[in-house]
Amino acid sequence: MSVTTPTTMACKACEGPLEVLRLCRRIRMRCTRCGREFQIHEVADRLDPATEAILERYTAIIYD
Ligand SMILES: [Zn+2]
Repeated sequence: MSVTTPTTMACKACEGPLEVLRLCRRIRMRCTRCGREFQIHEVADRLDPATEAILERYTAIIYD
């Protein structure tokens, strides 16, 4: 089971819109255009306030 939440961030590869992808115990950013997945630390320097607020809801998630 997975849950996705749209964000206002852009993909580093294609500038498409990223969504937060929550898997069982993991969380990723995924591009809705090219399908590329990023770990949170890969986009941490680009997080905007709206996306940070989404991620704060997942404080129990293990950031691997
Ligand atoms: Zn992309």
